[in-house]
Amino acid sequence: MRVLVVGAGISGLAAARGLAAAGHEVVVLEQAQGLRLGGGAVTLWCNGTAILGDLGVDLEGTGQRLTTMCLRTASGRQVLEFDLEALAERFGSAARVIPRGSLINLLESGLPEGTVRFGTRVAELRTDGDGVRVRTETGQEYGGDFLVGADGVHSRVRALVLGGGPAALTGGAIWQGLTPAPFDPGSTTTLMVGRQGDFGYMGAGDGLMQWFFDVPWSPGAPPEDKPLEMLRRRFTGWGAPVEQVLASLGDGDAELFPHTRHKVPRHWGDGRCVLLGDAAHGMPPVGAQGTNQALEDVATLVECLDAVPDPAAVVGVYSSRRRRQAALASMIASHSLAVSGPRTLMQSEYLMRMNASVPPRLATRGFGGLLRTLSNRI
Ligand SMILES: Cc1cc2nc3c(=O)[nH]c(=O)nc-3n(C[C@H](O)[C@H](O)[C@H](O)COP(=O)(O)OP(=O)(O)OC[C@H]3O[C@@H](n4cnc5c(N)ncnc54)[C@H](O)[C@@H]3O)c2cc1C
Repeated sequence: MRVLVVGAGISGLAAARGLAAAGHEVVVLEQAQGLRLGGGAVTLWCNGTAILGDLGVDLEGTGQRLTTMCLRTASGRQVLEFDLEALAERFGSAARVIPRGSLINLLESGLPEGTVRFGTRVAELRTDGDGVRVRTETGQEYGGDFLVGADGVHSRVRALVLGGGPAALTGGAIWQGLTPAPFDPGSTTTLMVGRQGDFGYMGAGDGLMQWFFDVPWSPGAPPEDKPLEMLRRRFTGWGAPVEQVLASLGDGDAELFPHTRHKVPRHWGDGRCVLLGDAAHGMPPVGAQGTNQALEDVATLVECLDAVPDPAAVVGVYSSRRRRQAALASMIASHSLAVSGPRTLMQSEYLMRMNASVPPRLATRGFGGLLRTLSNRI
């Protein structure tokens, strides 16, 4: 089949890899003039790395393999530890942190030359019995037998196919960066949680550290021009290494990503058009599920296109296989941590310390069970 993919983010490029490997003729339409390599590092859990392995993407030597995940209180006391090496053994694939730009480059490098057409912002689409036609803002037309909307949280394809607006702001935001590590974080990913929000950090390879703070952020509020001052104020009194990380940064190092959430639709498309990744289920980055769920979509869509003979029937099968997991991931990402309101009481030092009663083996088993529940692959 001739497949049009809209968007050359992680979802669109991964879909293009899977579809091209399955023998489809793929064209990726990307609005930007080149690959968008920005952003911090993404955490790939065992399911995400397993799917990338299936797509022939070799992650060895890129980013940082994770062996441990720790949960700490705001004062820095460790309350939970998860053995990610045990999960790597159980699922046959290790968790990893990878700069978003490195993953984009790896995905694109495996595509036939000329697959991605830059400067093609899709504005309109039209379907008939046999195919799909899109028109870009500059009036170019492209046709195919099937269309994949992988155009992110502000998806034009979603608006055209399902109606409704872009993903809604949730009232929180992440300030984050990928900067030279002020100390060696090893192979551990750490999350500290308190009433002011949360702070996380992890090595991302090549001496870099991915760090982030989740804080309240009102829609329409002017962006902080001195984010580090605000973060220092808000996280005063937090334990190490909050101060050390903040001291190592300049204001230009911190990027703001407002938290957004899309309602996970019942049908992920219509006719010969389907959605995947953030276009289908934009969710806050809490728990690092967005990219992993996007890769799950890719694997399932490629399987469905292979197994379901009528392209117009794919959307039903694909949506029903992915909907439950994506909706659960979105719910966890939206509700497991609070940055404002009465729910932050649950994140007090006293209540957070109660987590310390859970032994590491049980915590690891629980997290492995969650990953399995959220995945169609492992
Ligand atoms: C530049 C950038 C930086 C990011 N940085 C981070 C980060 O630091 N941390 C984090 O957690 N998440 C980040 N994200 C989001 C993260 O990549 C996604 O949540 C996840 O990887 C799923 O990606 P996606 O491919 O579904 O969507 P996206 O990564 O948003 O990719 C969508 C792609 O579609 C293109 N596009 C959009 N509309 C059109 C159109 N009408 N026609 C053609 N092309 C279109 C966009 O230019 C983009 O390349 C970033 C996204 C981008 C684009």
